Amino acid sequence: MKPLIAGNWKMNGSLAANEALVKAMLDGLGGQTPAADMALCVPALYLAQLQSLLTGSPIAWGAQDVSSHEQGAYTGEVSASMLKDFACRYVIVGHSERRQYHGETDLQVADKAKVALAHGITPIVCVGETLAEREAGQTEAVVKRQLAAIIHAVAHCTSEIVVAYEPVWAIGTGKTASPEQAQQVHAVLRAQIAAATQHPERVHILYGGSMNAANAASLLAQPDIDGGLIGGASLKAADFLQIVASAH
Ligand code: PEP
Repeated sequence: MKPLIAGNWKMNGSLAANEALVKAMLDGLGGQTPAADMALCVPALYLAQLQSLLTGSPIAWGAQDVSSHEQGAYTGEVSASMLKDFACRYVIVGHSERRQYHGETDLQVADKAKVALAHGITPIVCVGETLAEREAGQTEAVVKRQLAAIIHAVAHCTSEIVVAYEPVWAIGTGKTASPEQAQQVHAVLRAQIAAATQHPERVHILYGGSMNAANAASLLAQPDIDGGLIGGASLKAADFLQIVASAH
């Protein structure tokens, strides 16, 4: 399975900045097939722009959230069929910033993953413990609970999801989990997926949390780390491409 390196731009960008960034990435690839599958998850307003810049390139695009509802009176929400209109391949669900600032529950995140799959969009499901949970020895229990909600909702489609282990204390903080710490949790997630699907080998388990050009290779060398979900470093073409190049 080829590794997957997905960028999460979060609430960053502008038409001009996006164009420059995407063009720098495409120029950097120089028409070569990248060492990893690549995707950029961008603010929904910019999906049309990314579709126009990336169609025919090796870089896929996706969104950062999706409504769990199909359509209707949900002001401000974006539906999976709308994302599909812009040929999104991926959508991030359950990012810790959405769990933290928007109160998203395991159940809501699971519903979002289910709706995405029903529309042929691969959900990148984020799980991860806070610092307090890690210090209380609850890391395994927390990520297993978060992933169990997803598996329960998507059932026989479990092999079609992407999982991202993102320790909350490592996101945007410059503190990365050590390769050993990350591998330990990835192995737990892998076992949980293996118990739920006949095709656990199809599921990418990404690491996310201050992954950058300098630390990517050692993280990606771990047996159960199948790629990365990259925040800050996905806003710099050279850094993002360096991470992609470290994945093989
Ligand atoms: C993220 O937001 O998913 C993330 C991993 O951010 P950063 O790489 O900036 O820690």
